[in-house]
Amino acid sequence: MSTETATPAVTEPRDVVIIGSGPAGLTAAIYTARANLAPLVIEGEPSSSSDQPGGQLMLTTEVENFPGFPDGIMGPELMGNFRAQAQRFGAEFLTEKVTKVDLSARPFKVYVRDTVYEAKSVIVSTGARSLMLGLEAEQRLLGHGLSTCATCDGFFFRGHHIAVVGGGDSAVEEATFLTKFADKVTLIHRRDTLRASKIMQERALSNPKIEFLWNTVVDDLVGDDRLEGAVVRNVKTGETTTLPVTGLFVAIGHRPNTDLFKGVLDTDENDYLITQPGSSATNIEGVFACGDVQDHTYRQAITAAGSGCMAAIDAERWLEAQH
Ligand code: NAP
Repeated sequence: MSTETATPAVTEPRDVVIIGSGPAGLTAAIYTARANLAPLVIEGEPSSSSDQPGGQLMLTTEVENFPGFPDGIMGPELMGNFRAQAQRFGAEFLTEKVTKVDLSARPFKVYVRDTVYEAKSVIVSTGARSLMLGLEAEQRLLGHGLSTCATCDGFFFRGHHIAVVGGGDSAVEEATFLTKFADKVTLIHRRDTLRASKIMQERALSNPKIEFLWNTVVDDLVGDDRLEGAVVRNVKTGETTTLPVTGLFVAIGHRPNTDLFKGVLDTDENDYLITQPGSSATNIEGVFACGDVQDHTYRQAITAAGSGCMAAIDAERWLEAQH
C-alpha cells in the first residue's frame, strides 16, 4: 500500500544542485555559477541547528583566521558575503530542507517537501555538527565564551582560566593546545579514565597548566551575555561547585549530517562521506562531496571552502565529459 498522498511536482533537470550552504557549498556555488551551470543551492532551514543556512559559522562570533580579513570578520557576515557573491553570478537559493534524495539513476532526484528537483550532478555539502551538552544556556553563550573550536577561538583567551569538556582525543588535544594561550585549563570529564590515545593523555597529564576534574559533569553555565562560570557536579559525591571560567570548550564529538545518504553514499565508520583521494568524487558518478561532511580532520572554513572549489571543478569537468 502506498503512503504517498500527492504526486510531487518535478522540475526540469538542472546541471547542478548543491545541498548545504556553509563555506563548502557556497564556494561550490560561486564556482559553478561562474562556470554558467546555474546552480540551485538548497540551503537549509533557519530554525534548525543542523540544517542552518550558512552552516556552523552562523553560530560563531568573530572569525580571525579566514585569510583576507586582517581585522577579522563576524561569522554570519562572512557567510553573508559568500552568499551574495554566489548570487551575483546567478546561483539560486531555496531556503528549505531536503527531505529525501534518489541517487539510483540519472537525472538524480532531490526532494524538498512535494517538489522533486532533478539534477545532472549533485554536490553534497551538508556539513557536520558539534555535539553539545544539551543545556539551555548553550544557545545564549555560544560564541560568547562558549566554543566548539579551540583552533578558531583559543586566541581570545590569553591569560584566562578556561575549561574543556570531554575525555576523547579532541578534548585532550584541545586542552593541550589551549595551554598556549590560557593560564589554566581545567579538563572536565564525566568518568575517571580518558578515552584519548595514550600518547595524548600523557602529554596532557604532564602539562602543568592542565588540571583534571574527574567524574564531573557540567550542569549549567553562568553569565547573561558572556560566560562567567560553569556549574559542575561530581557524579560520585553529588557535590556542586561553580568553576569561575571565562571560556568553555565543548569537545564531546561531532556528527556529520549524512542521514539523507545512508546506505547510498559510502561512509567511514563514523558516518563521514568517503571521497576519492585528491578528489571530491563519491562512489556514485556525478555526486560530489565537500566540506565537513567528508572531513573530520581539519574542519576549518578555509579547508571547507577549498574543497567546495574542488567539487565545483570536478562537477564541471564531469558534466563536460558527459556531453
Ligand atoms: P570521542 O572519541 O567520541 O570522545 C567523546 C568524549 O566526550 C568521550 O570522552 C565521552 O565520554 C565524552 N562525552 C560524550 N558525550 C558527552 C556528554 N553528553 N557529556 C559529557 N561528556 C561526553 O570524540 P572525539 O574526541 O571528538 O574524537 C572523535 C574521533 O576523532 C576519534 O576516533 C578520535 O580518535 C579522533 N581524533 C583524533 C585526533 C588525533 O589523532 N589527533 C584528534 C581528535 C579526534 P566517555 O569517554 O565517557 O564516553
